[in-house]
Amino acid sequence: IMINYIKQKWFQSAQVCVLLILEWGLQAAASLLMIQTFDAIFRLNAHDFLFWTGINLVTWGLYFATSCLREIVHARTIRILNNEVRHDLYRTLLEKSYQDFHKQDSGEYISWLTNDVKQMESLAWKPFFECVGRGAQVCWCILALTSIHWSLVVAAGIISLLMWFVPKVFEKRLERRGKDCSEKQASAVGELKDLLSGFDIFRLFQKEKHFLEQADASSELLEKPSYRLKRAQTIAYGLMGYVNVVSQFITDVLVMFLAFSGRVSVGVFAGAGNLTGGVATGLDAITKNRLSFSAGKPYFQKIQFQTKPISGQKGESQVVPMEHGITLQNVSFQYGNAPVLDNISMSFEKGKKYALVGPSGCGKSTLLKLLLGWLPDYSGAISIDETEIRNFTPEQLQRQMSYIPQNVFLFNTTVRENITLGDSFSEEEIQKALRESALAQEVLTMEHGLDTVVGEGGNGISGGQKQRIAIARALIHKRSILLVDEGTSALDRQNADIVENTLLCNPELTLILVSHHLSQERKAQFEQVYEMG
Ligand code: ADP
Repeated sequence: IMINYIKQKWFQSAQVCVLLILEWGLQAAASLLMIQTFDAIFRLNAHDFLFWTGINLVTWGLYFATSCLREIVHARTIRILNNEVRHDLYRTLLEKSYQDFHKQDSGEYISWLTNDVKQMESLAWKPFFECVGRGAQVCWCILALTSIHWSLVVAAGIISLLMWFVPKVFEKRLERRGKDCSEKQASAVGELKDLLSGFDIFRLFQKEKHFLEQADASSELLEKPSYRLKRAQTIAYGLMGYVNVVSQFITDVLVMFLAFSGRVSVGVFAGAGNLTGGVATGLDAITKNRLSFSAGKPYFQKIQFQTKPISGQKGESQVVPMEHGITLQNVSFQYGNAPVLDNISMSFEKGKKYALVGPSGCGKSTLLKLLLGWLPDYSGAISIDETEIRNFTPEQLQRQMSYIPQNVFLFNTTVRENITLGDSFSEEEIQKALRESALAQEVLTMEHGLDTVVGEGGNGISGGQKQRIAIARALIHKRSILLVDEGTSALDRQNADIVENTLLCNPELTLILVSHHLSQERKAQFEQVYEMG
């Protein structure tokens, strides 16, 4: 998967690679030039010495210039790659079903997008470019060694084999540790988020000690796996380092032998050390970074989405609007082993208004979620105009229906943005939606009208206003079937009355309203009131 990203962004990646190859080439060249400089010293030739020193200085100058440029291009490429991964993670989330999405805490998703992306950066992108650079280093050094004496290359070959096979021993273990790290950190962030969300409760009940204990445990969960990954890496790297030193000794002895037998000049001592060292450290770095790839693999496995068009884009299927109505026949549903709905039959005709009443916990909200296609594991039949809703995708169902939960979620932006969700609607369309959701008057009294910012989660406005903004949102997006979970928690009687009146008076709406209790005269305004539980 990782390589696919590099391929996708091949142009930027290739720039980094070319600069890396150049950078290491210049360094190898500097080592060869050093040999010339030293030979001039041994010959006591001042002219040659100055000449080679000058060239050496220029080469180092070029090296540092290339290195700087490479760093900048490298950082830019990493930025692009990270955001590409995030984009694909967003798409992975978009393709999760309602149930799958809610299996995990939103804190875990935040951890995917922050911690995990940073881990991918340090376990995949950086090691990848490091490998390319070090690969170039090894090649350049071998080339330079060939120009000195072939036997030095044979020695380098032996080292290569050693360096390639030893890390294989550690690969599996590091992969396991990497996976552990990703999972534990995600759940620790989830736990911390939960603790902080309930912070006030800890204080209200004087549970500071309890809070500290749990928070400390989460901190440990956050730190321990990365410590263990680090420990496993350190042991592996330590051993590799020793193998590296032994290999270098082999080469040193060989250079010594060649010089004494007159096969190479004495100056070779000055540069050959760097070059053989270059082969060894280059290979060492490559093997280390190869280990990182294994630890990075689990992070990429989270990215799973099909390349189908996302809704809101061109190419999505059109939905035929409902003609007659919705029917439920002998529908039963259970969460795990807990039965919630038992053999329910109901029907809802187009344009008419229905109420679902019953005690808390009798399954009213669950029924709405069934209609929305969020909980597909029911038995019995639910159909819209004779078509079983399982034959629609959740998107197709939600194109006609909107669900307004007890606790409406508003984004921390303006009333207008919360209604339009970023799409462009004409001023008339917006005003019509405001009138139909009984908001028009109230918006006038808000400080900045439609451009009033609602605050985090809509904290700046009342529960009733929040629900009516959600209704306006549904109406402007042409959702003609409204499933409203009024509950009792969010609304006082007066606000509930406003919302109910608004909805009952809209002739185009098919309304299914969940209510904790309704007055007799209110009940009479509905086509039918289904008693549940
Ligand atoms: P109501 O809307 O009538 O108050 P709900 O449909 O919200 O009732 O819940 C019906 C029952 O299903 C309750 O006992 C509730 O505890 C249970 N329930 C609701 N959501 C879930 C869920 N995601 N997982 C397991 N049980 C659930």
